[in-house]
Amino acid sequence: MKLISFDRDATPHIGVVRDDGAVVDMAADPALPSTMVEFVALGDEGLARAAALVETAEGVALDAVRLTAPIRPRNNVMAIGKNYLSHVSEFSGSGFDASERTPVPQHPIVFTKARSSIVGPDDAIDVSSDATGTSDYEGELAVVIGPGGIRIPAPDAWQHVYGYTIVNDVTVRALQRQHVQFFIGKSAATYCPIGPWIVTRDEIDDIGAAWLRTRVNGEERQAAPIADLIFDIPTLIAAISAAVRLEAGDVIATGTPSGVGIGRTPPTFLAAGDLVEVSIDGIGTLRNPVV
Ligand code: MG
Repeated sequence: MKLISFDRDATPHIGVVRDDGAVVDMAADPALPSTMVEFVALGDEGLARAAALVETAEGVALDAVRLTAPIRPRNNVMAIGKNYLSHVSEFSGSGFDASERTPVPQHPIVFTKARSSIVGPDDAIDVSSDATGTSDYEGELAVVIGPGGIRIPAPDAWQHVYGYTIVNDVTVRALQRQHVQFFIGKSAATYCPIGPWIVTRDEIDDIGAAWLRTRVNGEERQAAPIADLIFDIPTLIAAISAAVRLEAGDVIATGTPSGVGIGRTPPTFLAAGDLVEVSIDGIGTLRNPVV
């Protein structure tokens, strides 16, 4: 199922994109909530109710609604640094890597992006307040957590995966380097586009076989299979939940492959007028203009 959040009459709604492309508003079932975090927390019961609505409720055209970020988790968006070998090499060589210069991390590098940086599909990435002019894109697969938990063993981790979406982990490289810890450089307002929707886990048989591609102004910059992740999804969930209690609706961005702006010679950064598109097979395309 493809799950969306959208604005209707200036109020937040959630819905399903049906196979014919029409949107079914979950407000048609008064037992369903109006936010995706609450809906995800309902688990299979929510999905069963949504499936029943898809059969009976009237749809509206997808392009008639304004999509918002499919989910705004209760917690910061969790994200993984250096999780593709190809990106480890380009980052180490860029001069922007203030973290430990280990060729390959032994354990996942986990940081967070402020909730306030989240925007939706088609929303603008606003680089106008980046005085350093070093804003960069990072196309990433993101996992949405279903049932929460702590100390989740890797073999059980898939039961905690509700679905997938796309995150553009936009970063101010100069701030990422200057502050050593990633938080500020990763959390500027509008620097966490998420979307366009959540695809439930059952829709994708083998996420490893899916390819991620990032295009800037139509030019392909990143292309890699998800199978190239150094730490796979169960390993990430086990590592984070070893200490942190994961909650329903939490989002984990799994890292970016090579091809970001600082990996280019000379480095190329985002500028007003650019259009960034991140696509993942089986999910869709997250498209954001830069202003
Ligand atoms: Mg990243």
